[in-house]
Amino acid sequence: MAEAPEVGSRVKLRLETLSGDTIVEGVILPPAVEQHVTVKLPNGYNLSHPIKQTHIVESVTTEASTPISQDQPPHNPNLPSIRIIHTGGTIASKVDYVTGAVTAQFEPSELIHHVPELQKIANIDAHKIGNMFSEDIRPIHWNQIIDATEKAFEQGCDGVVVTHGTDTLHISSSAVAYAWCGDGQKAPGRIAFVGSQRSSDRASSDAAQNLIAAVTWAAQGPTPNGNLSDCVVVAMHRTSDDGACSIHAATGVRKLHSSRRDAFRPVNTQPLATVTIDEGSINITLSEHYESNRKNLTEREAATTATRFKTDVSIRQFMSGPWLLPAEIDEAVESMVDALVLHGTGLGHVPIENPNEDAPQNLELRSSLQNAIDKNIPVLIVNQCIHGPVDMNVYSKGRIQKEMGILGHGITTSPEAAIVKLHYALSTNKNVEEIFTSNLFGEEVYQIRD
Ligand code: GLU
Repeated sequence: MAEAPEVGSRVKLRLETLSGDTIVEGVILPPAVEQHVTVKLPNGYNLSHPIKQTHIVESVTTEASTPISQDQPPHNPNLPSIRIIHTGGTIASKVDYVTGAVTAQFEPSELIHHVPELQKIANIDAHKIGNMFSEDIRPIHWNQIIDATEKAFEQGCDGVVVTHGTDTLHISSSAVAYAWCGDGQKAPGRIAFVGSQRSSDRASSDAAQNLIAAVTWAAQGPTPNGNLSDCVVVAMHRTSDDGACSIHAATGVRKLHSSRRDAFRPVNTQPLATVTIDEGSINITLSEHYESNRKNLTEREAATTATRFKTDVSIRQFMSGPWLLPAEIDEAVESMVDALVLHGTGLGHVPIENPNEDAPQNLELRSSLQNAIDKNIPVLIVNQCIHGPVDMNVYSKGRIQKEMGILGHGITTSPEAAIVKLHYALSTNKNVEEIFTSNLFGEEVYQIRD
């Protein structure tokens, strides 16, 4: 074939492959790679194949196939308005077929045009913050995302979708949740973060369905209650199969696998909802616990502005275990950190006892930590196990830690959401101890014994 069929047309194609010819049918998308034909298959996957090894069998344009225009589609007054705030990540990436590397290179408008279904769900415009991989994201970028959400709602958007790399997606989304809801109010509209594990030009990409789920939630989801960590959500594949995406509370989810399409799993909670996507039919089903809790809790007032994070906060983190040495804590205290975070073992423990009288560094560690606390440096424990609460009431070790003034008893969010909560407290000059004994917007999902 010399030229790809018209973008938006539905065609049946014969593809020459190393294992013989194969027939596929789908809608032609703008090519993801030069000299390739890109087709959206009925199962939601995109497929790219070299143009020279592709042949048209039949044009099967039906009423159901919507031509894709590269121009902004006309405003539909019957649809909600959604803004995509674009930060980058795999969802906005292509494979460089020369080097094999994945590079961030999609513009937000290209992303929208690659998923023609979006035009039927909402009027969409886009705001680009950058094309960053999310390991490069810093608190300054959280503030840029917060600025952009504020502006979107000011300009009348019903919802906002933030496209983001998956590595730190649960951290940025938690930051936006604390920014809008930490002070007793809620965001004026729905905010959904979305990423993808495989770039859009790969046959196994999860980008299109994740984006459809996020836009559907932002456009048609229930009005956030504000008390159920439901203002800011994360939309990602529910299983490694296509067809369903989970809508997670930002503070109750984490990337728990480096490569699976269902890498994002809930932490100490369940998803708020599921968006099912089945060949043109898209439905939201609220989970039972979310639906029943919504009925019992009065909705919060919507805020018009959100908090910004301090960008010069110094939080030093340590992994509890056999390698943690007191000198590391002393060095941090001397360098005037704002807070220390210990990734505790089990229920939230650090090596501060010397039962065999042969590990003096444990007692030194205890004095180093006590010294930090006495100098008013907050010391917070989060949970290396990820799942299960930090509970310092079960073992005598935990009780000693509580008596020393170590904070964190009762945390049930992801560890990173707890660190964002600490950063939020330091940014707003709130009392860190008070913040860690408060459930600010339903992020702590169950209360444990005190
Ligand atoms: N490490 C990159 C990021 O977090 C790619 C991973 C992804 O987006 O899935 O942006």
